[in-house]
Amino acid sequence: MSPIEELTEILKKFPSLGSRSAQKIVFYLLKKDNEELNYLGGLIANLKRNLKVCSECGNISSEDPCEVCSDPLRDRKTLCIVEDIESFQAFEQAKIYNGLYHVLGSQTAPLWDKEITKESADFLLRHIKKLSPKEIIIATSPTIEGDMTKFSLMDILKPVKNSKITRLAFGLPLGGSIEFADRTTLHASLDARRPVEE
Ligand SMILES: [Zn+2]
Repeated sequence: MSPIEELTEILKKFPSLGSRSAQKIVFYLLKKDNEELNYLGGLIANLKRNLKVCSECGNISSEDPCEVCSDPLRDRKTLCIVEDIESFQAFEQAKIYNGLYHVLGSQTAPLWDKEITKESADFLLRHIKKLSPKEIIIATSPTIEGDMTKFSLMDILKPVKNSKITRLAFGLPLGGSIEFADRTTLHASLDARRPVEE
């Protein structure tokens, strides 16, 4: 296999890329000079080297605690529970929320089959105990898996008193993931959040 074919094969397995897009990217890269390609190669080679899982919230970052947990300007009395790093990124990029997060699954510790392990539940409860937040927002996607996670969370959070527990109001197209929600929709669903059903 030629280097062009080999790279195309690898790229076409990337999320949202098919053979045609993979080929386009390879031809795009062929037009770049060696310096740019080395820079890109270095970024990929070092991507995981300096990353840590935040011991407070489960986010992935170059620092532990992560930049959100250690930011003194964040509202430490509101905690938003998200399913994964992608949802975390969606909220952060939309700049609509100033509280803290708890990330249930990550690339290094994925939320397999959307089941929350005992370990993961204990990690969440320790975080809540430490913060004693006024409000806990369950920000799962309006998908079947997201709903299952929401119900497991409601169970896990039963012993938590003293915190108002809310969920996002959707807004979001049913079956749509938070990761792909546009800023306006995400903002509306956060603004209109309501208490979880008993
Ligand atoms: Zn953190």
